Amino acid sequence: MPRARLAPSLSALFLLGCPAAPPSPDATVDAAFDASAEAAADAPRNYVPEPFAPTAATRAYCAGHDDDALEARITGLLAQLTPAEKVALLAGAALGRVEGVWLVRGNTRRGIPAFRMIDGARGAAVVPPGHATAFPVGMLRGASWDPALEERVGQAIAEEVLAAGANVVLAPTVNLLRHPRWGRAQETYGEDSWHLGSLALGFVRGAQARGVLTSVKHFAANSIENTRHTVDVRMDERTLREVYTPHFRRVVQEGNVATVMSAYNQLNGSYCDLNAHLLTDLLRTEWGFAGPVLSDWVLGTHGDVDSLRAGLDLEMPSPLHYSELGGALAAGTLREAEVDRSVRRLLRAQLCFDLDRRAFAEDPTMRETAAHLALAREAAARGLVLLRNESVQGRAVLPLAPSRAANIVVLGRAADVANTGDHGSSDVPSSRPVTALAAVRERAALSSGAVTFLPGATLDAAGESALRAADVVLFFSGNLATDEGESELGAGDRRSLSLPDAEVALLHRAAALNPRVVVVLEGGSAFLTADWDAEVPALLWAGYPGTEGGHALVDVLWGDRTPSGRLPFTMPTREEDLPPWDNTSPVVTYGYLHGYRYLQSNGTAARYPFGFGLGYSVMRYDSASPATQTVSAEGTVRVTVQLTNTGSRSMRETAQLYGVSADPMPAVPPTLRAFAQLELQGGAQGSVELSFPARELGHWDDAARAWVVPAGMYELRVGPNAALAAQRVTVQVQ
Ligand code: BGC
Repeated sequence: MPRARLAPSLSALFLLGCPAAPPSPDATVDAAFDASAEAAADAPRNYVPEPFAPTAATRAYCAGHDDDALEARITGLLAQLTPAEKVALLAGAALGRVEGVWLVRGNTRRGIPAFRMIDGARGAAVVPPGHATAFPVGMLRGASWDPALEERVGQAIAEEVLAAGANVVLAPTVNLLRHPRWGRAQETYGEDSWHLGSLALGFVRGAQARGVLTSVKHFAANSIENTRHTVDVRMDERTLREVYTPHFRRVVQEGNVATVMSAYNQLNGSYCDLNAHLLTDLLRTEWGFAGPVLSDWVLGTHGDVDSLRAGLDLEMPSPLHYSELGGALAAGTLREAEVDRSVRRLLRAQLCFDLDRRAFAEDPTMRETAAHLALAREAAARGLVLLRNESVQGRAVLPLAPSRAANIVVLGRAADVANTGDHGSSDVPSSRPVTALAAVRERAALSSGAVTFLPGATLDAAGESALRAADVVLFFSGNLATDEGESELGAGDRRSLSLPDAEVALLHRAAALNPRVVVVLEGGSAFLTADWDAEVPALLWAGYPGTEGGHALVDVLWGDRTPSGRLPFTMPTREEDLPPWDNTSPVVTYGYLHGYRYLQSNGTAARYPFGFGLGYSVMRYDSASPATQTVSAEGTVRVTVQLTNTGSRSMRETAQLYGVSADPMPAVPPTLRAFAQLELQGGAQGSVELSFPARELGHWDDAARAWVVPAGMYELRVGPNAALAAQRVTVQVQ
């Protein structure tokens, strides 16, 4: 149980540990806690740890190492460490950062290295006045639908994490977007498990290839901000297995993720750190995770012995609860072998990544490098989703040609703002954010174009005549950090899915005065646009595009790059088209369906469907083959799609494959099972293979308590988005 001195208001306690807070007075208390461990180290003892033989799971986790030698070394360390020294390894060092990082001290006497952690969902979250590359947020990177690009981003972020003197990055965030009101929507990759698992795998592979441990978070079902510390999220087992956790499983099994962070919320009546079903049954027994689980910060641990037994190895950022473990050992209510189990996982993570043989020191010159800024620009441009591009007087409004953009008016609340995302734990201080307005001015100057910026949401007579006279109006709008973000540290959940009223009024007026209004929506996820989008010829979704966001926007608006982003979430016509949203009740129930599958089950058309996005050309889906195929349940399904670029400009297409289950649950709509990209020059033809494990066609059978892939015929639909997957093939699973 928490000690009495920690009883003050929970949110005050949380804020004390917030990333921006200076090292707290509790750092002293924790140091004393460590010192007692060191003193106890001299006491002679004759302890023999339980034998441990490497398993398939430990070998997979630590691929590239001599597993027998490594586990033997850990066993040797466990024999040397005193109980107090072991317990001291199981919690972070202080409520605040130490030397700019969240520190988990090692043990210098025994040669055990420290974990040095920082956040990294959109770049290395260094402490200001330090700077790092603010990459586009996860949701915009998710819109690239390109795990290989995300791998490069993961590598670059890891390089900057190392250059911040850290060795663990507290990313990726993979909680799926159940509802676009979620304040942290921007951090994750989208609403679909397969899509977001694929992107997260890219990040984990890239970062870990650079020797940085990743921490996939928040396990699990964390998708409400305002009640995140208390809400009890209820769901049936099938929903848990098929919807809210398969992406975590893939990151564990296919990505060998180094650490997992548990979530603040409760799942089915038990806080995630106390939830043995999650942390032990699924994560370890079934998925074979051999690394450590760490808690979410400050309020993410609810027990001491109980949390440890459930599977939580490391309390972060300081031992508010785990300081009790020493007493429990002494009292005999906790066995040393139970502590060893967690210490072994921590040591395994440290030694697998050779943390004992590497030095970690700050090097600001390796952050915001030219290569990383160029990648941030590329990643942002690759995520931008073109939602509308109508013709005015016979020509599509985008891309802008200098001759048709000599006189530009810029409007909107996001035009002149460094809109890189929320002010929560993933915030990255950037030294040179390029706003949309600055980039438009820079680009227009290349062709001697004039740019008039009309700030604010009201127009005077001069503003109205500027709008009338403009060749094109660029309207940068959407959300700001004050509208959505992590709770306590930022704005929390969204209060609306619409643009502010004043912004909509300005938009109507601009559209009435000028036929060429291009709207760019920045923000973490979906907006309601049905009230005004038909009035404007062009519309893009731009996420929070990062420090190079302005440049990426002009790259696409002027056609230096062609747009290829695809929505990683559904944009509904009305909020009522989505499942209910509730961020006030202590208990919420998540049904099996949300997002595109929810809308399709209800026969509701999306305003802009999941997977949708236009290019500056048009891709035709000629065929998908083979028409039928037979695979075993352990095999791989492979479908080849033939495409033709029917326009004159090059285009990158994301072919998507949706599987229809043969399964007993009635009316489960098609579900994304594979996607792949192909870039074709104008007029060119090509093919791309979509493949996925046949296992994905299965489902969780609650009665059998097993994943089953019933033999039989399954239909697969291929196309450019969830609403238009028209090419059909069948697969016979044996
Ligand atoms: C967030 C985590 C973050 C941690 C450390 C918590 O508030 O939920 O995602 O990694 O703080 O900054």
